[in-house]
Amino acid sequence: VVSESGRIARVLVDVPRAEPLDYAVASGAPAPNVGALCVVPLGARKVVGVVADVTGSTAVPVAKLKRIDRLIGVPPLPQGWLQLTKFAADYYLHGWGEAAIAALPPLLRRPAGPRHETTLQHLRGNLPAPQAVPAAAPIELLPAQRHAVEHIVAATGFGSHLLFGVTGSGKTDVYLEAIARRLAHAPDAQVLLLVPEINLTPQLEARVRARFGSVPTVSLHSGLADRARAAAWLAALEGRARIVLGTRTAVFVPLPRLVLICVDEEHDPSYKAGDGIRYSARDLAVKRAQIEGIPVVLGSATPSIESWAHARAGRYALLQLPERASTTGRAAAGARVETLDLKHEPREGGLTAPVRTALAQALARGEQALVFINRRGYAPILACESCGWLSSCPQCAAFAAFHRSEGRLRCHHCGWSVAVPRACPSCSNQDLEPVGSGTQRIEEALRVALPGARIARLDRDSVRRKHAARDTLQAMHAGDVDVMVGTQMLTKGHDFRRVSVVVVLNADTQLVSHDFRATERLFATLTQVIGRAGRAGLASRALIETRFARHPLLAALAANDYAAFADGVLRERQAAQLPPAVFQALVGAESRTMEAALGFLREIKAQLIGRAASLAVKVYDPVPMTLSRRAGVFRAQLLLESAARGALHALAREVDPESTKGLRPAVRLRIEVDPQEI
Ligand SMILES: [Zn+2]
Ligand SMILES: [Zn+2]
Repeated sequence: VVSESGRIARVLVDVPRAEPLDYAVASGAPAPNVGALCVVPLGARKVVGVVADVTGSTAVPVAKLKRIDRLIGVPPLPQGWLQLTKFAADYYLHGWGEAAIAALPPLLRRPAGPRHETTLQHLRGNLPAPQAVPAAAPIELLPAQRHAVEHIVAATGFGSHLLFGVTGSGKTDVYLEAIARRLAHAPDAQVLLLVPEINLTPQLEARVRARFGSVPTVSLHSGLADRARAAAWLAALEGRARIVLGTRTAVFVPLPRLVLICVDEEHDPSYKAGDGIRYSARDLAVKRAQIEGIPVVLGSATPSIESWAHARAGRYALLQLPERASTTGRAAAGARVETLDLKHEPREGGLTAPVRTALAQALARGEQALVFINRRGYAPILACESCGWLSSCPQCAAFAAFHRSEGRLRCHHCGWSVAVPRACPSCSNQDLEPVGSGTQRIEEALRVALPGARIARLDRDSVRRKHAARDTLQAMHAGDVDVMVGTQMLTKGHDFRRVSVVVVLNADTQLVSHDFRATERLFATLTQVIGRAGRAGLASRALIETRFARHPLLAALAANDYAAFADGVLRERQAAQLPPAVFQALVGAESRTMEAALGFLREIKAQLIGRAASLAVKVYDPVPMTLSRRAGVFRAQLLLESAARGALHALAREVDPESTKGLRPAVRLRIEVDPQEI
């Protein structure tokens, strides 16, 4: 059908793998703008769509052509936003409509009827109008910080900058200064600052507000209520917000006047989406900067090996901050790293003698300590010593952890839980023993070892209560806590002033993991946790318990030499032909039986193998995933690998997730590009 020009809109709707659908513009209504949000009929439903194009012709027969219901009263999404969602869809092998609608805030994904306009008006609330940026606050920057800022603000057009700064070197001051300088250029300019964790946004928000005063700033993360999230999104789209702080999903926030993107802790795995479209917000931030023709800054003390490779190859500018900056602008020393060989230092009640001594000394000096253990609960396993029974989750191929205070066994993979049995379920022996230690057991051991010390715990269990994390951290900052024990949560950028001892328990499982990324992650985690010590210039120690005291990772950590470590990892990956030397995509299958999941992947492999040979893509044999069963579902994977990204994508595109329809037992298929866990 050929119609009058401007009377056909191609609309993005949430349909798996579909092209935009054609709709007629109602007679009498003006042609919508490209990027407009609208409500359209889809089957029997009404759905929200985004106008991707406006044209005069369609292949849809007139009788079948439906009309746009109505337009939603927000400005059209910018061209760059459409390009970004199109790229994300193509790259991560989803439909453009799926990617576009998923990128909207939840409230705007639902067609709310005519009341929508009132809601939108409410959301606009009273965020102040754009204002000029106040003159630079008097932050004294170290020479390396100043150099980094100059480099970033001097950049014209697209450019990626890897800001490699040791922990405590003041990367945030570099972002804030660069942001100030870029915002000062244009009265309507906007910047995007991404952080990995929701818990970090309030802290950063406080610093941004302290630095920029009245410059309209919004935060965007999944912890916000739907209305607050939609309000922040709208303020960004309408240009009322000039600084947007956000976690992963914020990479998609529409910003018509974007001039700079900063990605803090760019190595952090939480930038990778774990469900839906499995995108990397870090990688999309770089793409977005390229689309917009602006600079992007990726900051980390332990950059991802991928970004490090880009910097080494000269594709990213490497900006280094080799010194720690104290609040006074002076350089501050880092902690001295010592390994404690567990072969020679027996644990008593969960703690070795040197650890007890170091903690007691810190307390005697009125200083604080952190104890890091990457396991929550009391113990990872409960065991019967008489028959060998171990607490396992009935739904997962995993153990159920012992949570003593609740008196429950709990699976950390699927959430299954049960009251601790009074006796061994298999032999009725009444003495069940915890095996290994989690945060709760270490907390208990610390209370025994350090009578009178004020001890706090920070992990997913201790922060369930609203504001619990904030309260615990505030108590730590205020000096009302002597020793804080916790998981990864301890490591995320907290600026504790009086920590002089850091203890790392049980890092060995990651030292000897089969996942080739495990050491990279461990180095990052340990660098972060060690970096919490000595921030205000206190002489500090970091004690790492291990059975592998000669492991090269621990040597590099002690020398505080990430560059040498990363160069070594890069050489190994090159030699072993692992990412980033090659590119990978993963086809995952889930089913009620392992045989069905593996069987289907074998069929896919058979279908792909001819084309794979001509494209020079390697197709591995299907295997069960590391966690082979989760929540009652068996999981298997098929790995595709190639030195050429284009060839890998071409092959991966041939896998159709819909092809499992009608199979018994049912098989669910998903495809992940650049998987982070294999
Ligand atoms: Zn037993
Ligand atoms: Zn489970």
